[in-house]
Amino acid sequence: MKYYNELKRIGIWDYLSGLEKSIFNIEQVLGDAVQLLKVQTADGLIEFAISRIFEKFVPEHLLFVFEVSANFNPEVYYFRRLSAAAVAQPVCWYNGLKECLPEDESHFLFARERGRFSDSLIESLGEYRPNIIVPMKGLEGVFGFVLFSDKVTNDAYTEGEISYLNRFIPFFSVCLQNTLHHRSSITDLKTGLFNHAYFMRRLEEELFRGRRYKSETAVLLMDIDFFKSLNDTHGHLAGDLVLQKLAENMKEKLRIEDILSRFGGEEFILLLPGTHMPTALEIAERLRRAVESLRVQYGDRYLSITISLGCAFSTPADPLPPQELIARADKALYMSKENGRNRVTLYTGQDVQSPSGRS
Ligand code: GH3
Ligand code: MG
Ligand code: MG
Repeated sequence: MKYYNELKRIGIWDYLSGLEKSIFNIEQVLGDAVQLLKVQTADGLIEFAISRIFEKFVPEHLLFVFEVSANFNPEVYYFRRLSAAAVAQPVCWYNGLKECLPEDESHFLFARERGRFSDSLIESLGEYRPNIIVPMKGLEGVFGFVLFSDKVTNDAYTEGEISYLNRFIPFFSVCLQNTLHHRSSITDLKTGLFNHAYFMRRLEEELFRGRRYKSETAVLLMDIDFFKSLNDTHGHLAGDLVLQKLAENMKEKLRIEDILSRFGGEEFILLLPGTHMPTALEIAERLRRAVESLRVQYGDRYLSITISLGCAFSTPADPLPPQELIARADKALYMSKENGRNRVTLYTGQDVQSPSGRS
């Protein structure tokens, strides 16, 4: 204490306590970064980031804007509009945003030209009166940004808060980009369903689990009826739209644990873990009917389709390897086609059983 006044006078005391604060800040960021590694979904990461930020301060608006892949629009996660009186102002802050991202400007402009960060999106974000914009940087440069408006308390952001954001957001960005890359690596771009490779991996896992816990696994293979003629009559773009709408429609009807994938062109495959035969057949029939009543608007036309389904099981009494289970579902599907399409067929080994559907 003897030297306190002297140290204070020449500024070393403040310097040392500043160092202490910054070490504390780094420890906090590292702790949070380790937590980030345990989160596996984009939503989970964003929720975690928000919980950490809200522990320190609460902005009136907090937005996460990022591109996902060439085929998707940017995703905008918007959290909280705590001040009901926030009046939209025509703030042109695109130039401000560019200043934030000097070294990555070309990437940003490129993304913008591709329509991902469109002018209208940028302008609409202006309504949130951003105070701080932190770029999210990944492998190929900036892929998005986090936008903070004023705090609800209206006081200025402190140096400590800004330094936390500058250190935390880079960790967060890398984790987020990893989960987005993983998500696109298991997704079929045209339909948004899981892709073939992911399906095969999950099928193998579920069959293994089924053997271990003595549970049943059902597989439904589906194929659109006369899809070629729909393409020939209305064009491939109409066909693509039908594929997307069909995928959306079927996904809505399923549980989160059911793995619906695009198997190939106009074929879909559904994995129903731990599902008994009557339930699986009920689901198959529900899907068939839902598709039958689906109308897809294309210009001034309404397109309709039907699907044929084949259903097979791996049971504790007859556990099957993945290829055999799919081959059986395929045989049943073939019989659905043979017997008039728009129907469900269960693989029985010999004769074909048609539990439902119309001829
Ligand atoms: P069936 O009832 O016997 O299944 O008749 P089908 O016409 O559906 O069967 P086929 O195998 O002869 O034709 C499948 C068609 O699916 C041919 C192909 O052009 C179309 N197709 C496959 N993938 C896509 C795609 O991604 N988009 C579009 N628009 N068409 C596709
Ligand atoms: Mg086919
Ligand atoms: Mg077909």
